[in-house]
Amino acid sequence: MSKYTVSVKSVESVTHDVLRIRTEKPPGLTFTPGQATELFIDKTGWETEGRPFTFTSLPDDEYLEFTIKTYASRKGVTNELRKLKGGDGLILNDIFGAIAYRGEGTFIAGGAGVTPFISIFRFLRSNSEIGNNKLIFANKTKADIILKQEFDSMLGTNFITILSDEKTEGYAHGLITVDFLKAHVTDFNRPFYVCGPPPMMDSLEAQLSDLKVDGKQIVKEEF
Ligand SMILES: Cc1cc2nc3c(=O)[nH]c(=O)nc-3n(C[C@H](O)[C@H](O)[C@H](O)COP(=O)(O)OP(=O)(O)OC[C@H]3O[C@@H](n4cnc5c(N)ncnc54)[C@H](O)[C@@H]3O)c2cc1C
Repeated sequence: MSKYTVSVKSVESVTHDVLRIRTEKPPGLTFTPGQATELFIDKTGWETEGRPFTFTSLPDDEYLEFTIKTYASRKGVTNELRKLKGGDGLILNDIFGAIAYRGEGTFIAGGAGVTPFISIFRFLRSNSEIGNNKLIFANKTKADIILKQEFDSMLGTNFITILSDEKTEGYAHGLITVDFLKAHVTDFNRPFYVCGPPPMMDSLEAQLSDLKVDGKQIVKEEF
């Protein structure tokens, strides 16, 4: 197990509550797209508060990137990350993660659950292998959609969004259901990559089971 301390290069806003944090990349650090690390803020009182975050840069990039949804009301690590500036330190611990690409399929994400798919799709795009992969991305409102433009340009009509708390033209409304999946997924024999909060994961697993999707086809991680 290696532990790395890295300096922050930049912090930008991606949405109203999502940050893009780039840091220097330590020599020797390797990961596969979809993997995460345990991250700590190198600041008194926070050095022991590790939280898992996914690398959204590519393994060959000269920097590390994280795309992080922040929760101001929880007064936890993500709220503290909102105060981060260039030159501040972050500590990276183990590298792990259940999500890895296994071939063309349907990706289903809720909110920050899309982060492992950012790295995977950027990797596929860099190899010209986006193919017929599909991303269904569920959010509360349009303003919560992370990297809409980038997904639109990478996936075109294979990027499908659904909003639970807002009725807006051009977006499906409600929660993902069996009927929604039947309307948008043409091949149920391909892999399903699923990542989101626990209630969404439970619901999707039940729906995919109803649709006779074999559990072995499902690559998943709960956020
Ligand atoms: C493998 C993996 C990879 C991940 N990658 C990313 C990523 O790349 N980007 C990303 O944005 N997220 C990612 N996550 C999720 C991320 O780890 C959490 O959002 C983060 O740990 C929250 O940390 P926090 O300290 O801000 O809040 P927490 O530690 O969740 O909460 C702090 C306190 O707030 C309270 N609290 C907790 N949950 C709630 C709630 N739902 N409502 C109200 N109060 C609550 C509790 O009192 C808790 O002690 C990943 C998760 C996993 C498992």
